Amino acid sequence: MRITDVQERSVPISRYADASIASGDLTTSVVALTTDVLRDGKPVVGYGFSSFGRYAQGGLIRERFAPRLLAGGEDGVANAERTNIDPDRAWATMMAGEKSGGHGERCVAVGTLDMALWDAAAKIAGQPLRRFLADRLSCGGAPATSAFVYASGGYPYPTDDLDRLRDEIRALLDQGYTHAKIKIGAGPLSADLKRIDVAQDVIGRPEALAVDAMNRFGRSAAFEAAEQLADRNLWWFEDVCDPLDFELQGDVARAYGRAIAAGEALFSLAEAKLLVRHGGLTPSRDILLFDPVHCYGLSHYLQIVEMFDHAGWPRSAHWPHGGHLFALHIACALGLGGAEVNPFAFQPFGGLASGANVENGRAQPPEAPGIGFEERNTLIRFLADQFR
Ligand code: MG
Repeated sequence: MRITDVQERSVPISRYADASIASGDLTTSVVALTTDVLRDGKPVVGYGFSSFGRYAQGGLIRERFAPRLLAGGEDGVANAERTNIDPDRAWATMMAGEKSGGHGERCVAVGTLDMALWDAAAKIAGQPLRRFLADRLSCGGAPATSAFVYASGGYPYPTDDLDRLRDEIRALLDQGYTHAKIKIGAGPLSADLKRIDVAQDVIGRPEALAVDAMNRFGRSAAFEAAEQLADRNLWWFEDVCDPLDFELQGDVARAYGRAIAAGEALFSLAEAKLLVRHGGLTPSRDILLFDPVHCYGLSHYLQIVEMFDHAGWPRSAHWPHGGHLFALHIACALGLGGAEVNPFAFQPFGGLASGANVENGRAQPPEAPGIGFEERNTLIRFLADQFR
């Protein structure tokens, strides 16, 4: 078997359900990867996209990584039996000739194609990704059919911020979510505290709310925020400062004394090792947010999780960033703490399968073969439109 075609489209996405609100011209790449394997008389196609927050990667995908997959032929992508894609072999083919370090956004380009490789491989195997992945890793026993989830959103609104935030949190609770995360750090701390008050008031349980400072705080702002947030009984305090300022992060973690979440803006095993050594985090308390797409894809993310296993971190500490079905499958297969979901942001990619519900704080990924993009009506229509 071989990969016969790779198409990429760079498309706009919004952080808001109302896509007319300015969202920084954010984009993502979508890819369609066609194989020569037939199912129901049609070639199997795997889909992937660049997760959220790091823009489209069309140049790197089209100029470097997709051509390597196509040129690799069967030897470069297939398993030993030549019956399916071996995602790890294909990953090595994409990375041929690449030097260590200098991750830049190459990791996102590779991760985008990696998602499509896993989608196609699970489709060829006729299994939902969570089962295909668990079988491949010999996890022992059946993978979980559901994972804990939380609703992510709460971006600052340009007008009527507190009223619209209140409405958004209410709508999340109406959908069955029990935990939520909102953004802080975009304005003065006094405004952030009001947002936290509103969100905690609507949820009713202060400990069910996490806040994400989007790596915006410098030293004085980080310490001021930590002092003010310490008695708010938050679920976690995320992305405190520059992701590579491990010294500041460790100082804040010690001063704050409660759960810190980090890793969303670290993109490789090498950076993850730095976080373990220098990040000042505590395995029994803190949260890891590595995005399986942004850090070179699932094939590389698995090495990151394994490294944390050896460093004494529990699997329950991992809550992968992304808020999409891919991360939900991974959380089920690896027995992670849970997964982020974006019910309103980043449409049509964020959210669960059509008709899927959150029950007791848990959600199920689709049972269809692959990641199950085909089970999310708005998303599969969007993809069909992009790649017709
Ligand atoms: Mg974050």
